[in-house]
Amino acid sequence: MNKRDFLKSSGAIVAGSIISQLAPAQQQPAPRENWAGNITYSTDHVHSPANAEEVRAVVKSCSKLRALGSRHSFNRIADSTQNQVSLQHLDQIDIDDKARTVTVGAGIKYGQLAPVIDARGFALHNLASLPHISVAGAIATATHGSGIHNGNLATAVRALEIVTANGEVIHLSRDKDGDQFLGAVVGLGAVGVVTRVTLDLQPTFQVAQTVYQNLNFDQLAHNFDAIFGAGYSVSLFTDWQHHQATQVWIKHRLSANEKHETPAEFYGAKRATEKLHPITGHPAESCTEQMGIPGPWYERLPHFKMNFTPSSGRELQTEYFVPRDRGYEAIVAVEKLRDQITPHLFVTELRTIAADDLWMSMAYQRDSLAIHFTWKPEWETVKQILPQIEAQLKPFDPRPHWAKLFTIPPSSLPAQYTRLSNFKQMLQHYDPEGKFRNDFIESNLFAT
Ligand SMILES: Cc1cc2nc3c(=O)[nH]c(=O)nc-3n(C[C@H](O)[C@H](O)[C@H](O)COP(=O)(O)OP(=O)(O)OC[C@H]3O[C@@H](n4cnc5c(N)ncnc54)[C@H](O)[C@@H]3O)c2cc1C
Repeated sequence: MNKRDFLKSSGAIVAGSIISQLAPAQQQPAPRENWAGNITYSTDHVHSPANAEEVRAVVKSCSKLRALGSRHSFNRIADSTQNQVSLQHLDQIDIDDKARTVTVGAGIKYGQLAPVIDARGFALHNLASLPHISVAGAIATATHGSGIHNGNLATAVRALEIVTANGEVIHLSRDKDGDQFLGAVVGLGAVGVVTRVTLDLQPTFQVAQTVYQNLNFDQLAHNFDAIFGAGYSVSLFTDWQHHQATQVWIKHRLSANEKHETPAEFYGAKRATEKLHPITGHPAESCTEQMGIPGPWYERLPHFKMNFTPSSGRELQTEYFVPRDRGYEAIVAVEKLRDQITPHLFVTELRTIAADDLWMSMAYQRDSLAIHFTWKPEWETVKQILPQIEAQLKPFDPRPHWAKLFTIPPSSLPAQYTRLSNFKQMLQHYDPEGKFRNDFIESNLFAT
């Protein structure tokens, strides 16, 4: 853990200890920021209940409230001008071997959960680029990893326990609740406060990760699915210069006793001879093991290790989902802006996500390519570039990642999120007074 992370997490512990459990929320001394430091939250009132019963009491006592996960979102989706509630103390893990599920308290992070289920012989189907995020925060925003056949992390949800606006506890499950469940999983924090999540498990597995360098984009024109389908999870990184991916990360899922041989070349790209960070020049010690060395799923599927700062640190992120079958065209369209983009970019990542049926998911009923940008912390410039990228992507019906920065006008969102009106009806039903609606939800969902 570096100094900045240590200070941040120790700050969180101190804050957690002075913040009352149920007493009226108190002032914190320092401004409260999201992980990237680009958002200062609009309230110092953070409730930190010890259990689900206390969550109910908090919900009943507040007229406005937003749930807060591990603060990794880049926009104001988790913000509130009045109250936030952190579920960090709800961190139980209950494994049901027979049902092949795990039920977790909503504050648990993937990095805490993964070794526990692995030790019992189980795995999750996928992970995001970092294990530091909370399960509830990740599923609320349809957070994803990569893999042509892998749905986002929310597709592993089998059941939810939610405290709704009047303090009632509801249980929704994939097996029993059909549409209500499909609408509530990617809930954007607006359906209620999720207190418990049940996730599908599968038998544990090993993964070997190999990195290749300099894949010419021409290869994508004819081999798009073969390249993105070359491993269980595949990521391409680019700085948009020289018509190439600077790196290709292939995470190969090993079958029992498989000896995995990695070829020296991959569509003309050369196998890396040392461990690499996706951002050229950054030290690779924070990255998960590469060079084809097999290891447990949870130490290979993320790009970054739990005890290190993931990605760059001070940064901004943006991501757009387009149909996978038009993925190459979309890449070429964005590439036209390369000379505007590159000076302000740390790196772009290209990933695929399988279609799902979760109403507010970016991959709703559409196999997707996600075009991601990790920007330098230069918002004034980045916000001038985003509309240009969005204009280039317009023919591909781009869906913005809910947890990242975008400038697509709210009036364009209903055409992309085709279940948006159903979702708003659901919010009216569970939260008629708008207790869980903040400015982000009001302006993006309800302004039109
Ligand atoms: C370095 C870095 C790498 C990232 N990599 C990826 C990636 O690989 N793939 C990807 O898709 N995204 C990625 N993200 C984005 C990240 O996954 C999302 O921001 C995710 O929402 C973070 O979860 P969190 O716990 O920090 O939630 P927060 O940011 O705290 O909150 C996000 C949303 O979840 C809601 N929420 C949180 N807890 C609850 C609860 N108990 N009940 C109801 N609602 C709740 C909040 O109200 C808010 O609306 C990355 C972010 C960073 C900083």
